[in-house]
Amino acid sequence: MSGFVCPHCKKVVDIFKRGGGEKMAGEMGVPFLGSIPIEPLIVEASDNGKPFIYHYGKTLAAEAFAKAIKPILGMTRK
Ligand SMILES: [Zn+2]
Repeated sequence: MSGFVCPHCKKVVDIFKRGGGEKMAGEMGVPFLGSIPIEPLIVEASDNGKPFIYHYGKTLAAEAFAKAIKPILGMTRK
């Protein structure tokens, strides 16, 4: 999780700084898949049993999830 999407103005606020995950991935020699913004709708969707990406596909967090899983899906499909 990285950054908080303000529900009022949709601006991303880096509450926990930025770049730590990417730096660690580089140090460990593994691919950096991306940053998922802290999104209150993820909690709401999860609590209601709704797949977040399916129901909130237009949010920044859903776009980040889609981008992060794309290379993983590419590795598992034959
Ligand atoms: Zn705001």
